[in-house]
Amino acid sequence: MRTPLIAGNWKMNKTINEAVALVSGIKKLAKEPEGLEIVVCPPFTALSAVFSAIGESSIMLGAQDMSWEKEGAFTGEISPIMLKDCGCDYVIIGHSERRQLFGETDENVNRKIKTALGVGLIPIVCVGETLAEREAAKTMEVIERQLAGGLAGLDDGNLAGLVIAYEPVWAIGTGKTATPAQAQEVHKFIRDWAAKKFSNNSADALRILYGGSVNQANTKDLISQQDIDGALVGGASLKAESFAEIIKQTLAETAADKKG
Ligand code: PEP
Repeated sequence: MRTPLIAGNWKMNKTINEAVALVSGIKKLAKEPEGLEIVVCPPFTALSAVFSAIGESSIMLGAQDMSWEKEGAFTGEISPIMLKDCGCDYVIIGHSERRQLFGETDENVNRKIKTALGVGLIPIVCVGETLAEREAAKTMEVIERQLAGGLAGLDDGNLAGLVIAYEPVWAIGTGKTATPAQAQEVHKFIRDWAAKKFSNNSADALRILYGGSVNQANTKDLISQQDIDGALVGGASLKAESFAEIIKQTLAETAADKKG
């Protein structure tokens, strides 16, 4: 049984006070769900304050990116050790906005994943095709390339320490969601790829999140798919009410214990 995970990517939104108010609202509304992990990923500037606000709650903290270096003369970069120091357990790596707007490559992603694993952070590794790639029937080729490059040199044990997020670029922040069948097809492809490259056991245990305009209205149908183990949520994670509703629906849908 894979524990479902709902992660909120707040992107470049929320001042410190706003971030604390948001996580406090999530704490209040989502309560302490059993059998589901909640992760919030505020901007770097709000990490410490959000960690304090989380307090004894089971909500976990994640960052949105990190350096592949641990320390040194890298102006403007944030070290994974600093993220641990702020209370992070998770870190998003290879988000499509980093890839598309900041030129992040599969090789960069690979270096970051290795450094994150080395310091005990759990990477949420994002993969996904653009609309042009989907229309050219290249979705699986792109996903395979991103997986092979991003996870190069990792072993079975490393796979157990990370999470994959399938995020079709055309669905991020656009209001367009992959249909449950489209998402399931890619999630299954990812799990099958992991079974071939690593092992059946580690592929079975691998959590694969869907991301791309997830909201209260589409969560249930997406989560009901066999290989969808949670969601990476952008826009709908910026309001406690909508994020808590996504958590509630995920819990209800996974209660039937149908996965893994
Ligand atoms: C994201 O940023 O990872 C994301 C999926 O955003 P949205 O939910 O807004 O599409």
